Amino acid sequence: MTAQIIDGKAIAKQLRLKIAEKVSSRLNRGLPAPGLAVILVGNDAASSIYVNKKVQACEEIGFNSKKIELPESTSEQELLNTIDSLNANPEIHGVLLQLPIPEHIDSNKMLEHIAPEKDVDGFHAFNLGRLVQRNPLLRSCTPKGIITLLESIDGVDIRGMDATIVGASNIVGRPMSLELLIKGCTTTVCHRFTKNLQSHVERAELLIVAVGKPGIVKAEWIKPGAIVIDVGINRLETGEVVGDLDYEAAVEKAGWITPVPGGVGPMTVATLMENTILAAELSEEKVR
Ligand code: NAP
Repeated sequence: MTAQIIDGKAIAKQLRLKIAEKVSSRLNRGLPAPGLAVILVGNDAASSIYVNKKVQACEEIGFNSKKIELPESTSEQELLNTIDSLNANPEIHGVLLQLPIPEHIDSNKMLEHIAPEKDVDGFHAFNLGRLVQRNPLLRSCTPKGIITLLESIDGVDIRGMDATIVGASNIVGRPMSLELLIKGCTTTVCHRFTKNLQSHVERAELLIVAVGKPGIVKAEWIKPGAIVIDVGINRLETGEVVGDLDYEAAVEKAGWITPVPGGVGPMTVATLMENTILAAELSEEKVR
């Protein structure tokens, strides 16, 4: 079997086009462009690339974007003050704190300080709580983007599927498990203490791998015909970017598969834009 490719790049492009149409409709109705502020603290090279990608995507789509770069030496109080001023700024509908931040700052405390209605990354306890209650508002971008990818597969309904997620982080694995529960999957979440990872992968009709370790899941474990979503982004010494799975081998076993790059990554950025326009709409509903 050779898997069908889930083309995240193309699906993200369609989503961005839809959002761009919504932006021009807003402008025609005299409403402001959605505003997104991205805060970068310190000198992490990968974070800087991600932030630039997000800001560029905002500009292309007609958003009002603001990049705030703070030095490594920024204190907790200074960062709290920055978040306060963005929370109070009516032109900013979404506030994103790029992680990781320097270790002397408590990242949870900072994320909790972002106004929940501007939490376009969906990491605030309020938004995660809404997801737990099956009544989501602003949903974490990567898991929400994966749901959009799954919904794009013609003729496939994931309800009732046995799903395995490898990785249980706050930003991918955990919210992903809640998204899949809402969709009606029977979901297993694996982490570093999981015994016999292979057995959980082998029975998965839907497999999502989000660890950040190439080869953590062997292609031969994949159930023939399964839907396989590779979230991992790993840069090899050669400079090549690969996922957590051996793509060439996995393609031969899966029914559908996301490539890396060009799978989940573009969806995460497009979903951030989707969340920002939703946050703008929610702020207007509140005013009415
Ligand atoms: P993370 O915070 O480091 O979490 C990794 C998870 O993998 C943890 O839950 C960890 O378990 C689990 N894990 C580690 N070793 C394991 C093992 N041997 N068996 C099973 N589980 C194991 O990473 P993350 O932020 O979730 O990111 C994961 C990967 O996705 C990275 O490559 C990242 O770059 C990529 N990513 C991609 C996107 C995108 O848009 N494409 C977005 C976000 C992340 P414990 O919880 O027990 O520690």
